Amino acid sequence: MALSLYNTMSASVEEFRPLRDNEVRMYACGPTVYDYGHIGNFRTFIAIDILRRVLRQSGYKVNHVMNITDVDDKIIRNAARDGVTVQQYTAKYEKAFLEDATMIGIEPPTLVRATEHIPEMAEFVAKLVEKGFAYRAEDGSYYFRIAKFPQYGRLSKKDFRGMLDGARVDVDEYDKDSARDFAVWKAPKPGESSWDTSIGRGRPGWHLECSVMSMNALGETFDLHAGGEDLIFPHHENEIAQSESLTGKTFARFWFHARFLLVEGEKMSKSIGNFFTLRDLVLKGHKPSSIRYLLASVPYRNQLNFTFDGLKQASVSVERLRNFYVRLTEGHFTDGSGDEIQALADETIDRMRAALDDDLNTAQAQAAIFEMVRRVNSALDAKVIKKGDVPALLEALAQFDEIFAVLKDDDGSKMKQVFDWALTEGHEKDISPELREAVQSGQLFDADIEEKIAQMETARRARDFKVSDTLRAELTAAGIVIENTKDRVRWRRK
Ligand code: AMP
Ligand code: ZN
Repeated sequence: MALSLYNTMSASVEEFRPLRDNEVRMYACGPTVYDYGHIGNFRTFIAIDILRRVLRQSGYKVNHVMNITDVDDKIIRNAARDGVTVQQYTAKYEKAFLEDATMIGIEPPTLVRATEHIPEMAEFVAKLVEKGFAYRAEDGSYYFRIAKFPQYGRLSKKDFRGMLDGARVDVDEYDKDSARDFAVWKAPKPGESSWDTSIGRGRPGWHLECSVMSMNALGETFDLHAGGEDLIFPHHENEIAQSESLTGKTFARFWFHARFLLVEGEKMSKSIGNFFTLRDLVLKGHKPSSIRYLLASVPYRNQLNFTFDGLKQASVSVERLRNFYVRLTEGHFTDGSGDEIQALADETIDRMRAALDDDLNTAQAQAAIFEMVRRVNSALDAKVIKKGDVPALLEALAQFDEIFAVLKDDDGSKMKQVFDWALTEGHEKDISPELREAVQSGQLFDADIEEKIAQMETARRARDFKVSDTLRAELTAAGIVIENTKDRVRWRRK
């Protein structure tokens, strides 16, 4: 079976095939780096990460480009307020975003930045003007003339016929009722960052940035364009208008949009106190792997209602998978193998594949692996698993983890990094007692444990038994069980 994806443009699920043989060219609208990323943002970025991983598992080479929006209305406003340049303002949040993305298991896309493409953006505007699709206003701003692009509204399924010709909108974000000629280039304002370019001094509009960067990196027509559902209108509609009016070609073939996340049944908002950045959750003591698992657990087009109960359950699920993995890799089995277990592993792989091929049904893929875990755990209890059964089961688990990426246990060191960040950046009051206790008490984090074990081994080899015994005693007191196997020292928590 081939991969099927919902395409917002056709409003239907279609079989996905890239234009060029084996290569998928995809562009994702990245973060606007004016604040720390919240769990809604990461729901979308994890959906895109899962898409990328599924494409790769399907045998494609994936060229995944993501922009960093480092110039837009909000950034300009905040930088001006703080009296710093745009770059100075955004550097901290870009760094934080990249750290967060790594923390939550997102594979790094190729990054492009708006501030690195200003001359190309000005050139693009000049071409739009030359073809009559954009015009210059008295103040030096440029606007896209939507009356010249009758397909406007095709992606968002909105009818804009009869709209006032020539009325204009300056802000990047607006609703359909105020859809007018939108700014592709904005004249400088006192106190705001701007650039000298071939079309005068100013700065690009947000929509123009993505048209230019995506085509620059991936060509005039590429396979897939992704983002959260709020970007359908006006952002993606405007990207299509700018790009297709200039090239006369299809801009992106597939449009992939993740549904907005709710928190405890409500729209996330700072004013009602249900707004969480990724770091907020970690400071409350939640593991990055549980957060990733939960955010990936609902298919991207369904409503995901984030709850703390759900997060707890996700943590239990990840723990079950990790325990299962340990049982398989560290258990002692008798020789031989059974057809039934082999068939179960193969069937699980097929079920996961079919679920993901079906417009990325992550919930069903998770259900398939847990069915296998349940059945094999019973078989392990009954001691009917043989040595020869293990590789097929591990293969099913590995294929699952190629997509969900939660088996590797380095949550502790990641949480420690966030803890250290909170201390140095003045967020100490947000550190929960649970996290503080975990960091400061004997419950060590993985990186520290590995470090101590390495020191213990070095001391032991140097026959410095006093030191090695002290380290061993510290680890034991912190609830760490150390086992010496033939070729290495293993450890686990009691
Ligand atoms: P922004 O940093 O606001 O440009 O958003 C980055 C990405 O997160 C975009 O793809 C948005 O569509 C997406 N996004 C923002 N809020 C949410 C939310 N509550 N749920 C899901 N995705 C979101
Ligand atoms: Zn974009």
